Amino acid sequence: RLLASESSLRTTRLITKMANNERSFIMIKPDGVHRGLVGKIIQRFEERGYKLVALKQITASKAHLEEHYVDLKDKPFFPSLISYMVSGPVVAMVWQGLDIVKQGRAMLGATNPLASAPGSIRGDFSIQTGRNICHGSDSVDSANREIAHWFKTEEINDYKSALIDSWVYE
Ligand code: ADP
Repeated sequence: RLLASESSLRTTRLITKMANNERSFIMIKPDGVHRGLVGKIIQRFEERGYKLVALKQITASKAHLEEHYVDLKDKPFFPSLISYMVSGPVVAMVWQGLDIVKQGRAMLGATNPLASAPGSIRGDFSIQTGRNICHGSDSVDSANREIAHWFKTEEINDYKSALIDSWVYE
């Protein structure tokens, strides 16, 4: 009995650890970089208690961005979206933590900044959909696809954080 309960406790801990290790692809778009908002955006995720596990500034190619936004290729705004995204460097990041995909979207705000709540990144720092300064994965599946599209496995850092692992989670 003791062994069985120990093993179920271990399973619970493992599931909790997996949930705490959910990852999302968050990107600061060229307008966010040009406007000097990189630090502020990173700070929001850090202060919330999420863990930064990958980060790079990159001027992405047209082909790379067309692949990233492949689901939108038939939308009328697709060409302007791509020219916006290739207009300067982006900051690509992977953030990790409990429910990060959903929480990251909430922290970013709605696609149209006019519909974004004050307190969200888009709601505080932007006005138009075509200049909405940041991107966040919309599901765990797209997060996995996007992370693999932007980062090599060795660019993602699996590490323990004494502060986050002991003080953000109970
Ligand atoms: P999100 O970035 O919130 O996931 P979408 O995947 O629908 O939103 O769109 C991707 C990006 O394309 C948006 O963040 C925005 O930059 C741009 N976009 C979406 N809809 C429009 C639109 N109607 N006009 C101009 N740009 C748009």
